[in-house]
Amino acid sequence: MAKQDGKTGRPRVKLHYSLLKILTGSDLSRRRLPLMSAVAAEDGPVVWLTACGHGDEVSGMAIVQEVFRGIRRRLLRGAVHAFPLMNPMGFEMGTRNISISREDLNRSFPGNPVGSLGERIADRIFTAIVETRPTIVVDLHNDWIESIPNVLLDRVPGPAHATAYDRAVWAGREAGFCMIVDTEELNRSLSFSLLMHDIPALTLELGKARVVSETSVAYGVAAIWNILARLEMIEPLAAPFRYVLPEAYGNGRLLRYSDKPYGSRGRA
Ligand SMILES: [Zn+2]
Repeated sequence: MAKQDGKTGRPRVKLHYSLLKILTGSDLSRRRLPLMSAVAAEDGPVVWLTACGHGDEVSGMAIVQEVFRGIRRRLLRGAVHAFPLMNPMGFEMGTRNISISREDLNRSFPGNPVGSLGERIADRIFTAIVETRPTIVVDLHNDWIESIPNVLLDRVPGPAHATAYDRAVWAGREAGFCMIVDTEELNRSLSFSLLMHDIPALTLELGKARVVSETSVAYGVAAIWNILARLEMIEPLAAPFRYVLPEAYGNGRLLRYSDKPYGSRGRA
């Protein structure tokens, strides 16, 4: 029988923090990615949280930290893994892209072990995630200062991957935000590459980049607890989080992404 926590009487959750080597610099300095895991004694779904693939989109790191602050107490079954800082070089320079190579990490997946710097980092991340055969992967991003928080879904990856896509749509609905379908063909994003490997994945776009907004963090954390609760990895929530949109946007409708100013007035 699994060891139980003396206070809660629940099976203990094992927390494991490690560093995954990604490259050695010209001065032989090593660059590594932090990797966090919380594993319950009882088997169950496997959820990944990934953040800061764009170096200036920093809220996701705080969201991962907040989730892990509560996970030991709350996780009943399964495992939650996280890469809270996928692009440390971009983060240190405050840039979206990998500062050394100027590549967009989120256009470098699934990666290549002998490719460019971005492709090699992507390969390390992608391999670590795929090995665990995740139930769902949630990639945390920021959009711009006036954007409403949303779930950004990739375009449909084709009938061969319909099961993974349907599961991603399901998780997107559970997250509690409106869902927007990307109209751009981003074939090399983390989420699309995972879908092409039959792993459900979605992207959360949470307000502005460059700063850790308390509101964005609160939304992101609430959305993740929503998903974990519906997967029965934590206790059911008394009041699941929901970001209520104005009626005009049509609740539950799939919206389509556009960068064009279609509206005659007003902004959303
Ligand atoms: Zn981004």
